[in-house]
Amino acid sequence: MRLIENWFSERYSENLQLSFRVKDQLLSIKTDYQRIDLFETYDFGKLLSIDGTVQLTEKDEYIYHEMITMVPFYFNKRPKSALIIGGGDGGAAKRLVDLNFERIVNVEIDRNVVDVSKKYFPEIAKSFDNNRVELIIGDGIKYMKNSNEKFDRIIIDSTDPVGPAEGLFSKDFYKNVSDHLSDGGIVVTQSGSPYYQPEALSMANKGMKSIFNNVLTYIAFIPTYPSGLWSFTMGSNKDMSIRDEKKSFGKYFNEDVLNGCFKLPEFVKKLID
Ligand code: SAM
Repeated sequence: MRLIENWFSERYSENLQLSFRVKDQLLSIKTDYQRIDLFETYDFGKLLSIDGTVQLTEKDEYIYHEMITMVPFYFNKRPKSALIIGGGDGGAAKRLVDLNFERIVNVEIDRNVVDVSKKYFPEIAKSFDNNRVELIIGDGIKYMKNSNEKFDRIIIDSTDPVGPAEGLFSKDFYKNVSDHLSDGGIVVTQSGSPYYQPEALSMANKGMKSIFNNVLTYIAFIPTYPSGLWSFTMGSNKDMSIRDEKKSFGKYFNEDVLNGCFKLPEFVKKLID
């Protein structure tokens, strides 16, 4: 990734980009699957980018990782097992460890993402050393086809629906996901920026609705993702309702956020109608 006068920019559209002033470029590699870049930024600490798009920064990763794990955690019966597809930085696995999941399987396609995270984000990637976490390097789509294990939660913590992650938003994939959910189990996927990637949200929503009886979309504010407004979509074959229990809180997540994140602006509702 070429820096222009020490600025890293993620292009949102032909006419708009978000730029971070960078102290140093720590790494730039091309793997079999994607380009990985790592920068030391002024405002957000270390920043990991894949194919030019921000995956996580030290400063605001907690928002995405809390929201993709804690929101589905508080629905239905208390979950014990989880499968993560993607998530090679370890941030989702770390939150599931904290939530006392007993078994966590993490299937990440690109070993380099795990290695880079262990080296540069050790606090986040330390989850891979926990004995409740099994890390499998492989394609989540193939894993789904070949495994028989069922999980209480399936978390699709993937890159955007281009390249290796494209199939993770398809109807066929969601059918396989449905076969791997335990009774009352829930799947959640990151479904992109409603403003800049409306097709990602529509695709996830349509795909899930064609397979699951119940689908819910929720939003969060993530400063380093396109437009700041981010969406997640969860699905289940059973009704989904919030458990009556005292909720713990994170740095972003709390009970008000849990109750409020499903209240959607009109333009977002239109995308999923
Ligand atoms: N928080 C992030 C975001 O939305 O920007 C996602 C972070 S995580 C680093 C995304 C991971 O998904 C990448 O490491 C990528 O290698 C992985 N991935 C993409 N396609 C995959 C697939 N088919 N199977 C397993 N992992 C996949």
